[in-house]
Amino acid sequence: MTTSGFWQRFWYSQLYRELICAVLCAWPLAIVVFTLIAAVAEIRSSTVAVVLLTVFATTLLIWWAIYYVGPRVKHAVRAGACPMCIFGADVYPRTESELVSACVAAYANGDLVVVSHAWSFYLAKRRARGSRVWTLEYTGSLGDGFWACGTSIETAKEALAAQGRAFSTFPTMSFASLGSWISSVSHGHPGRKSPEGGPLSWVAAARVLDAKTGIVTTDSSTELMRKFGSTVASNRPTNARYVVLAVKINSVPNIVLERFVRKMESVADADWWLKGEHLRILFVGSYGSLGFVWNAVPLGQSTTDKHWHPHICGSFCFWATVDALAATPFGRVGDLSRFDGYATLDGANASINDASAFGPMLAIWGQVCAIYNAELFLSVTAVTPELIHTLILILERFHSDYGGRFELRVDGNVLCVDISLRSLQRLSTLFGVLHKAGFESAAQHPGKFLVASLSPLTEVNLFDVFAPPSTV
Ligand SMILES: Cc1cc2nc3c(=O)[nH]c(=O)nc-3n(C[C@H](O)[C@H](O)[C@H](O)COP(=O)(O)OP(=O)(O)OC[C@H]3O[C@@H](n4cnc5c(N)ncnc54)[C@H](O)[C@@H]3O)c2cc1C
Repeated sequence: MTTSGFWQRFWYSQLYRELICAVLCAWPLAIVVFTLIAAVAEIRSSTVAVVLLTVFATTLLIWWAIYYVGPRVKHAVRAGACPMCIFGADVYPRTESELVSACVAAYANGDLVVVSHAWSFYLAKRRARGSRVWTLEYTGSLGDGFWACGTSIETAKEALAAQGRAFSTFPTMSFASLGSWISSVSHGHPGRKSPEGGPLSWVAAARVLDAKTGIVTTDSSTELMRKFGSTVASNRPTNARYVVLAVKINSVPNIVLERFVRKMESVADADWWLKGEHLRILFVGSYGSLGFVWNAVPLGQSTTDKHWHPHICGSFCFWATVDALAATPFGRVGDLSRFDGYATLDGANASINDASAFGPMLAIWGQVCAIYNAELFLSVTAVTPELIHTLILILERFHSDYGGRFELRVDGNVLCVDISLRSLQRLSTLFGVLHKAGFESAAQHPGKFLVASLSPLTEVNLFDVFAPPSTV
């Protein structure tokens, strides 16, 4: 590996994220808390206050250490299963046959819940109740072209990169497992030239257990969509019948791309954004709207004139600008040229990485600030620049009235509208606004916050939303 190759890998690595997290979160926290102790000791000269504050601070730091470093514990906290998991009957299968037996037994018990990295429970603000079967320890390549379902997107991405291959796109949360990516029908940021076939087009095949019958089948992406997407998300059964056991990945060459960004102010901007080749994502927040696209670098073009992504703190800066600050009144984008640059396809996807990947302490702010992150899928007959521009205007108007922030992606004829708001009531207001704008139905993302009713929109299922028009 060359030196630049080493650094390139380092910026992506979990070690780097953990270091950043430790620096960003632990030390400032420790400094603030112990300064407070010192200040109280100085001002109050009260032994009781100092002792109480010290106990509080130490508990906080121990909690941080357990939560952050403790094996399995942070996942259990996210799933609302800690400390019950320590005393309860949680199971952590390590082989496919152990996973199958655990799931069949739990299903027969009437309360099977499969848990992986537990981000969906965190976003849904709900506990994983029932007989929990964790896939965290069933990971890695199985040697027959399949990957164990608990393997994280990160791990698979790195293995693919070593072979010059990549996922065409993957969700911002790359610390999700391949099994839950399928089960929650999560998506990346597809461009005009991404493989067709919807959010699961990256799956060549998957072994799926029917926990009711104990039968294992090898399914295509369409069959997976039928199994995991044909119930409306707000009505998913609690006793999960289908379990993804292993996945074969449909990879693509890890080509070199260039990133472009534009303020989205006109139909022409929307047209430019829709032409984005390999990745497309659009953010609406306090700075207005920003469209990002990653296009292939033409043959012979030099790639030394701009920086390569991810560069130090690049994805953190990206997240802070388009995600965190976007929801505040003082979000500014500044000089857009800092978003320019090159990356391999896997690096381009990772450059959109959410900072929660940097560590649970950052992710926790979403909960502390009581943010609801939900996502709607709206099927339309044709995605046109005019439609995108209209939707941007609707979301900008909504943002200026009610705050929050939005992400927009397009996959075929489906608009994926990611919403972060601090009020459930305002979510309902947004559904009303979309209805008034002519949208009649929508599907919900099963891996995010689930709203009980989309009224006045009608909730439909993901299978129908993503099915090609002829098969609806
Ligand atoms: C910061 C952040 C960014 C995100 N960005 C995106 C994005 O860009 N695009 C997007 O679409 N989503 C996104 N998501 C949502 C995320 O992809 C889903 O919540 C995903 O399911 C989380 O994966 P996990 O491994 O933590 O799954 P978990 O929360 O553990 O499980 C998710 C669901 O899948 C089930 N499940 C898990 N493993 C299996 C299995 N092997 N077989 C059957 N069922 C199983 C669980 O029961 C649960 O219902 C984001 C989430 C976060 C927190």
